[in-house]
Amino acid sequence: MTVLVVNSGSSSLKYAVVKPDTGEFLADGIVEQIGEGPIADHDAALRSAFDSLAADGLHLDTLGLVAVGHRVVHGGKTFYRPTPIDDALVTKLEELSPLAPLHNPPAVLGIEVARKLLPDLPHIAVFDTAFFHDLPAAAASYAIDRELAERWKIRRYGFHGTSHGYVSRQAAEFLGKPYESLNQIVLHLGNGASASAIAGGRPADTSMGLTPMEGLVMGTRSGDIDPGIISYLWRTAEMSVEEIESMLNRRSGVLGLGGENDFRKLRELIGSGDEAAQLAYDVYIHRLRKYVGAYLAVLGRTDVISFTAGVGENAVTVRRDALTGLTGLGIEIDEDLNASASREPRRISTEDSAITVLVVPTNEELAIAQACVEVVTP
Ligand code: ADP
Repeated sequence: MTVLVVNSGSSSLKYAVVKPDTGEFLADGIVEQIGEGPIADHDAALRSAFDSLAADGLHLDTLGLVAVGHRVVHGGKTFYRPTPIDDALVTKLEELSPLAPLHNPPAVLGIEVARKLLPDLPHIAVFDTAFFHDLPAAAASYAIDRELAERWKIRRYGFHGTSHGYVSRQAAEFLGKPYESLNQIVLHLGNGASASAIAGGRPADTSMGLTPMEGLVMGTRSGDIDPGIISYLWRTAEMSVEEIESMLNRRSGVLGLGGENDFRKLRELIGSGDEAAQLAYDVYIHRLRKYVGAYLAVLGRTDVISFTAGVGENAVTVRRDALTGLTGLGIEIDEDLNASASREPRRISTEDSAITVLVVPTNEELAIAQACVEVVTP
């Protein structure tokens, strides 16, 4: 039994063929530069993915596929369970596009071409917002005009939910404790980055909001800013809404401050004495520490903090600098454990640390594949 997982973005399409029961990946890959050269559109991208699979001897009709799982960033208020896709759902997903203009339209394109090329399989939408559907109202609401917020569906939805859910469950399993017994902080630090507080298995807060722009400093996104900056730039610098949005999404964060968004290159720049790179790193760490402190207070008692995703799993210095000097708050990192590399979940705090700190590799494709199986097997 296998599931084809499709994560369709505007210029790239990621895919994986996953065995949901064992976690084995038969294949995974990415088709990039959609819209350029030979990959004219999403249809060509998916066909190219199938060609790559065939070149590896993997033929779709003999793989035992039971479903195609599609990552969809925004489910709005209505969609949070893994949902079988039909024409009506596609229409509803299109209606949600204003909430996620950069993410939902390419996901819908991916869904449409996959349904066309694999018409006999069930296609399932798995939403990045799902895990945070039950965020308490105090954490989900913005303190703005209530009627306006209701009319335009403005609330904090949260993203990377598949990863926060998967990693927090993995952390409980690693510790051998019931999921519902633990209060957790998960730090998903990839190119996009978000933090979550999870109380007894339920989301208590998360750093991303209406869109994936709020919260932590990210590779190219600003995270939290004073909303006054937007009207100031619009009015005074005469930038359009599109220009401001593009600046905040693509030319901000660590890239905007330090000229590089890959943490390996950022470290090299810092090593060569680059002051802008150093400032970018310092702002990134400062924001991360602020969120950790905030979530310790939101939870009251915290049992475990987990780092995950590209930066969280690999950047030893980020983990150290995010949590150093917090012994008074019950957090003590073991430098040697922190420096060790592995693909497995592992502890990086000392035996004496009241709060256990883990590195837990995320696996969103596996989580999506497992969610699909729950829907398609009776
Ligand atoms: P995405 O959000 O695109 O899924 P990932 O979770 O794969 O991103 O994270 C990608 C980022 O992880 C890279 O931009 C880079 O900053 C960081 N990263 C990856 N490998 C390493 C490494 N060995 N050391 C430090 N940072 C790394």
